[in-house]
Amino acid sequence: MRDFEYVDVHTHVNLAAFKEDKDEVTKRALDAGVAHINVGTQRDTSRAAVALAERYGEGVYASVGLHPVHTTKSFHDAQELETDSGADAKGFTSRGEQFDYDLYQELALREKVVAIGECGLDFYRVEEDTVPVQKEAFAAQIALANEINKPLMLHIRSGPGINAYRDAWELLKANATVSGNVHFFAGTVEDAKLFLEMGYTLSFTGVITFTHDYDDVVAYAPLDAIHAETDAPYVAPAPHRGERNEPLHVREVVRKIAEIKKTDGEIVRAQLRENARRLFGV
Ligand SMILES: [Zn+2]
Repeated sequence: MRDFEYVDVHTHVNLAAFKEDKDEVTKRALDAGVAHINVGTQRDTSRAAVALAERYGEGVYASVGLHPVHTTKSFHDAQELETDSGADAKGFTSRGEQFDYDLYQELALREKVVAIGECGLDFYRVEEDTVPVQKEAFAAQIALANEINKPLMLHIRSGPGINAYRDAWELLKANATVSGNVHFFAGTVEDAKLFLEMGYTLSFTGVITFTHDYDDVVAYAPLDAIHAETDAPYVAPAPHRGERNEPLHVREVVRKIAEIKKTDGEIVRAQLRENARRLFGV
């Protein structure tokens, strides 16, 4: 069995941005020793993540779930879903997707699926009156993760003056029997503490390579409780800013974590690789 040097724990080669060259992008990552988890954001992208994982052997995995912004009203990102992909895409942009437990359970049970999500709470891009709908979909996904005993891939984003981390933590604390990772962690050290004390991990993206906003929390979080991710096609790290991001670039994120933590790069790489194995079994 081949081992990989890096794991990009949260990426989206399953999205429309990679429609033309997903195999080239996947192979580029694998050839460079970068395993990765493609994360679903709704029904179609979750199915696409599973299909991609099943086309490859070791090194390509999937997470399936319903992103909180897709639980309600219109939101469209051309990099995520094709604009002209017919009724499904149009349906979701106009009314949001209701979490279909059976459908996601069937996907989630596949062997290459290593997590449930991205799910959680987003108070940034979504109106406040949608919060109950988001919470309902989130609770259902926690229940699914519990049932099949796979970890949660969490998307949590606060809005101006409104903390989503607290609410998400409360829901998890009361209901989750599995562990999880808070993807694209953008909270405070206090927020981080809540999740770390519960045994959850945090993952950081390429934004840490071009802003110092996350230095405190990266320095604070223990090396055995963090992961690196790209969230590709979004937020390419320096020196690739402005380009479409891809899993290969997780190496820059790992390098930057080592720099912020003033720790040897090889020690950091090896520990993050181990962290991904421990949580996701990859
Ligand atoms: Zn994502």
